[in-house]
Amino acid sequence: MTKTIFEKHSPGRKGYTLPPLDINAAPAGCIPDKFRRQQALRLPEVSELDTMRHFIELSHMNHFIEKGFYPLGSCTMKYNPKLNESLLGNCGWSDLHPDQPESTVQGALELMFELQNDLAEISGLDAVTLQPVAGAHGEFAGLKIMHAYHLAKGNHHKTKIILPDSAHGTNPASCTLAGFEVVQLKSDERGMVDLEALKAIVDDNVAGFMLTNPSTLGIFETQTAQIAEVIHGVDGLMYMDGANLNALLGVARPGDIGFDVMHFNLHKTFATPHGGGGPGSGPVGVRADLVRFLPVPMAARRDDGSYFLDYAHEATSVGKLHSYFGNFAVNARAYIYIRMLGATGLRRVAENAIINANYILRRLEKHFLVPYPQTCMHEFVASGDWQKKKHGVKTLDIAKRLLDKGYHAPTIYFPLIVSEAMMIEPTETESKQTLDEFIEAMIEIATEADENPDMLKAAPHSTPVRRVDDTRAVRQLDVRFVT
Ligand SMILES: *Cc1c(COP(=O)(O)O)cnc(C)c1O
Repeated sequence: MTKTIFEKHSPGRKGYTLPPLDINAAPAGCIPDKFRRQQALRLPEVSELDTMRHFIELSHMNHFIEKGFYPLGSCTMKYNPKLNESLLGNCGWSDLHPDQPESTVQGALELMFELQNDLAEISGLDAVTLQPVAGAHGEFAGLKIMHAYHLAKGNHHKTKIILPDSAHGTNPASCTLAGFEVVQLKSDERGMVDLEALKAIVDDNVAGFMLTNPSTLGIFETQTAQIAEVIHGVDGLMYMDGANLNALLGVARPGDIGFDVMHFNLHKTFATPHGGGGPGSGPVGVRADLVRFLPVPMAARRDDGSYFLDYAHEATSVGKLHSYFGNFAVNARAYIYIRMLGATGLRRVAENAIINANYILRRLEKHFLVPYPQTCMHEFVASGDWQKKKHGVKTLDIAKRLLDKGYHAPTIYFPLIVSEAMMIEPTETESKQTLDEFIEAMIEIATEADENPDMLKAAPHSTPVRRVDDTRAVRQLDVRFVT
């Protein structure tokens, strides 16, 4: 273990040189004695180099995409082009203030306008708002739009949203927050929507259907046209959770396959480094007759080519969902990413994301149970059931052992409908060599489970902190630094 910064402390050492003080120090009595520090603060005295090494060492104790493979299912932890950061670091962008007069921010408005249009084209929907700042926030916005649609038609009895049990966890939460009642639909043995079961529960109180597509099982729902027929039959609306649109880019458009409303997760599909839970962007796209319910303002273009913030449908809008115009810098990264890749590049994103996931699936299915073994989309779900039944090795143990081998663990114990689940998403940015190394590490772990299960149950062995007591950490959180 390397030394902490307190252990590197050496009295008198410092990392700065200041000119001698040429003003009078605070006159006596200026700060009352009771507010003065009685003892010198115990700070480490170190050089600039010591300080830099301290923070770099700390950062390396963590895992990040520039350090290693990060197959965290449903989160799309992909490499993000550094070009985005250098372009946005330009003061022409970074010094903008949202209260500036429109005439001085024409470039920013143009970017927003074009991004709205690009996302509309990619999704096959008619208009897009950039205001929501997370996937879940987009869901809430979309559901509020559906609510406004029904209110405007006098459909007061429409209180229910149907969603399959393979939905992302935010879907039922958003429905409840938006004031709807959730009706869960059990998936069939292929992990798809059971059409007969759906028909059996649909009635006039259904406001809409919400589908995570691809589902949390990494499966593309092929029956969306039939589902839409049933739902539209009772004047319900079709919502698609498009957080993982990287599987569909340039291949299938939600608007063409039966959906009326969807959200994007720009921070998954279209670049933006994830960290500390944000920031994100969850734009919402809708079909033409729902545009009047979108949050205002929208970016718009006048006939003379100038851009402005359009509040025209304020009276029918669901209202404002965020201060100003959403997370502008995340939206700008998405715009750069889309324009850098172009139409063919975006399609290749989807193709590579899908090929990478299927490559891992096929090579691991002899070693780990894969409960839904059909061709997957950008991710798939394996299970630790074989290892658990034979050796008592749980998915948690497998995940912890991966840390020893230099990998971030996949998403585990989600989705809930697969026992001992491991949700693996390689993303499109990883090479075959990296995938092969990860596959070898997983196969090694399967062998270790056969030969030395106790070692796995005690993993990780090489991380700065060994296995933490999750339950105690939640109840008695203590984040103090103790030397
Ligand atoms: C990540 C994700 C969400 C939620 O997005 P946040 O930005 O974390 O709120 C919703 N649905 C799916 C399918 C997701 O993968």
